[in-house]
Amino acid sequence: MIGCGGSTVSGGGVLKVRTVASHTYLLDCGRDPFFSTSNIAYYLDDELPALIDPGSGVAASAILTGAAAEGIDLRRLAYIVPTHIHLDHGGGAGYLAERLPRAKVVLHPRGAVHLMDPSALLRGARLVFGEGFERSLGPVVPVPEGRVHVASDGEVIRLGRRDLRIIFSPGHAAHHVAVFDTLTRGLFCGDALGFLAEGLSDVPFPVGLSPFDPLAYVQTINKLGALRPDVVFYAHHGPRTDVDYLIGKVREVCLAFDDIVHRRIEAGDSDRQIAQQVLAYSSGLTQQADLPVLARAGISGYIEYHRNQRRRG
Ligand SMILES: [Zn+2]
Repeated sequence: MIGCGGSTVSGGGVLKVRTVASHTYLLDCGRDPFFSTSNIAYYLDDELPALIDPGSGVAASAILTGAAAEGIDLRRLAYIVPTHIHLDHGGGAGYLAERLPRAKVVLHPRGAVHLMDPSALLRGARLVFGEGFERSLGPVVPVPEGRVHVASDGEVIRLGRRDLRIIFSPGHAAHHVAVFDTLTRGLFCGDALGFLAEGLSDVPFPVGLSPFDPLAYVQTINKLGALRPDVVFYAHHGPRTDVDYLIGKVREVCLAFDDIVHRRIEAGDSDRQIAQQVLAYSSGLTQQADLPVLARAGISGYIEYHRNQRRRG
């Protein structure tokens, strides 16, 4: 049990750290218990250090307890930047802010509201993960208003040797941001460029959890591709330099999901039938019948979006 006043966390994983680019460190905080994905944060060492995607409360506690042994002094941390407030990316931001008094939490305006008052976030999490989810994912602690830095699209945050550009990137979530780093010409993409599963790392699947906007998702892929990053730092996978391939592929898969779901709804198929069609397409891409949980879960957002569109006429 870890606790230094305020909320406590049990069961935090062991932190593993590796250098992935100049002054850029990947923090592997263990596995997500619900989606079986890797919890990965990035630490950017600088005059004003920043932590991207702190993860859940459990991941945040692993960072907090393991960082010093890895030579990272988090007491200097100036910015915590969750790409979005889903618990596996930003759930632990408040927990860290409680313990790291110099750090500001950088958020999209629509995300800021829900981390300052996480009641709606908690209600949604109970629906998805069940009562008691905080035992697995750690506490969701409010971020005090004075500690929030509400970002604007295109805003530049100076860290010292590098600037971070905040890019609004809706689709996966309306409040999603990506972060472009001038030092590495790297893009921290959160869930905006698909999800790369272990063993299936050549096919980025759209992360279409409801509420999802597939049109905005593709527009965001195009917007981020236009930045021409040299490297993409995936939130659940790690860095990749085959950027053109991955951006082209995630766009292709998204458009295919969208087309299948749209056509099958028009044909009157049930949700189950539609999901089977999408899975058949996905299995053809990967040569595997059994797709990762997050890739399967991502179909629901497409179905809900297109059913809503049809209802609206
Ligand atoms: Zn997410």
